[in-house]
Amino acid sequence: MRRPCRTESWIVAYIIAEPCIGTKDTACVDACPVDCIHPKKGTQYEDGRPGFEQVDQLFIDPVECIDCGACVPVCPVSAIFALDDLPEKWHSYIEKNSSYVEGGKFQPDRYPAA
Ligand code: SF4
Repeated sequence: MRRPCRTESWIVAYIIAEPCIGTKDTACVDACPVDCIHPKKGTQYEDGRPGFEQVDQLFIDPVECIDCGACVPVCPVSAIFALDDLPEKWHSYIEKNSSYVEGGKFQPDRYPAA
């Protein structure tokens, strides 16, 4: 079930958190039925977003995610959480995920420069 956040845009129900850093396993990308986990390995983006080698973790697009949960069990380091299950210490990852890509669009004003 999608819920509106404070900014009245839709918030993702699944978030990739700290355990992904340094791992970046891509089983979640293969499992996602709507192709909303980014960036893709071996892909160059025309909108200037950092590619797979430049980011420290993978990100879920909060608009495109359909909250199916298929990515959760395939992650070898248990880095993906439903919003309700996300440990408090990793709540900053809600914004970190949406700061990379939202609605299929890179967010250059929000994503921290490398
Ligand atoms: Fe993709 Fe489903 Fe995971 Fe959302 S919950 S990122 S739609 S696999």
